Amino acid sequence: MFDQLTSAVSPDVRSLLEDALEGKELTPASAERLLGAHGMDFHALIAAADLARQRDCGDDVSYVVCRNINFTNVCYVGCSFCGFARHRDDKEEAFDRSHDEILAKCQDAVKRGATEVCIQGGIHPNKNHQHYRDILTAVKSVYPNLHIHAYSPEEMDFAHKKSGMELSSYLRWLVDAGLGTMPGTAAEILDDEIRDILSPNKLKTDRWVEIIKAAHGIGLRSTSTLMYGHIEEPRHIAGHLDLLREIQKETGGFTEFVPLGFIHERNLLYNLLGARPGPSMEEDLRMIAVSRLFLRPHITNIQVSWVKMGHKLGQMALCAGANDFGGTLMEESISRESGADHGENTPPEEFRRLIREIGRIPVERTTLYDTVRRFEDPALDPPSKEPAQVVDLSGPARWRKPLENANPAAAAGAPAA
Ligand code: SF4
Repeated sequence: MFDQLTSAVSPDVRSLLEDALEGKELTPASAERLLGAHGMDFHALIAAADLARQRDCGDDVSYVVCRNINFTNVCYVGCSFCGFARHRDDKEEAFDRSHDEILAKCQDAVKRGATEVCIQGGIHPNKNHQHYRDILTAVKSVYPNLHIHAYSPEEMDFAHKKSGMELSSYLRWLVDAGLGTMPGTAAEILDDEIRDILSPNKLKTDRWVEIIKAAHGIGLRSTSTLMYGHIEEPRHIAGHLDLLREIQKETGGFTEFVPLGFIHERNLLYNLLGARPGPSMEEDLRMIAVSRLFLRPHITNIQVSWVKMGHKLGQMALCAGANDFGGTLMEESISRESGADHGENTPPEEFRRLIREIGRIPVERTTLYDTVRRFEDPALDPPSKEPAQVVDLSGPARWRKPLENANPAAAAGAPAA
């Protein structure tokens, strides 16, 4: 029976998967072939990527306790996939956080056990290079041990041009003020044919690469990302992965790769420009699996974006080549404003439950993938640092009855202890 299953895999796909498992580098053409795998080819791809993940990272699944802080949503770049940006005169929805507001969010993060804050914002035309440094200085003056992961290459491009400094000197100036790592966002698809449609005003591929290499060159590491499920074709994804792999061979500066599925509901790219409505479940899993097989052994951390996928598909992705569940986030606006509905916060204890449900071992990590704690025994888990949730059980009495029996305090509207 099993022989029948495996013999149903196309010979060329079988050969590519064997090569990848033997540690041979896949070519972009091979990645393109695997990105089109269906049926038994798809199942074989997922199984091979899961095996590769096991060999590369074992059974640990990591996550980081972090808080997102978006300091402004004012932005005039005009990316067609963005539902987050606002005009500065939008009295109701535009915001521009003061240092006090940013510090209050840092305080909340620290109270909830965060080791990292991820700080990004729109490209506000009134800000300059000094503004980006001042935020770092303000945070570090109060929270010197908090890791600051901040400023996409788009923000770096904007701030660097205002600075008049040499690029590496500007980046070092930020590192000296407390910048720890950089998000490798604003990558979308690193192919100007696609970028010119997605975001004609955004930095081009060459500039993205220049900024990332300059950052890695001074020891400022970054993540790497890709946005898929819109107007791209498999060849664009394959080219993007190839470019990231080449950068990693040269610099070793990427901490992880994070494929980001396109969220389509509230933006022009889908509603006016005719993009696909985000990836299918199969596409999501193929993307993770191909990333694992293509990027090994150069980038070994493949991260699931639970904000884009949700928890259950995230669990499946962890069985298709991924080894990292990302961050708790605590607050998330960018995907939510485009229509994502998987929530804004995944508490650490929720990560641990989800990871154990698929038979793996939860590991809290730092931004740079050092282990904070490995949670082998659930009985030794620490108590939650999350604020207590108020359980609202108002509604028809027939819904309340069993819960009243189970927990009278919660049924009366008291905070769940
Ligand atoms: S994706 Fe970023 S750069 Fe583009 S419009 Fe939105 S906030 Fe601005």
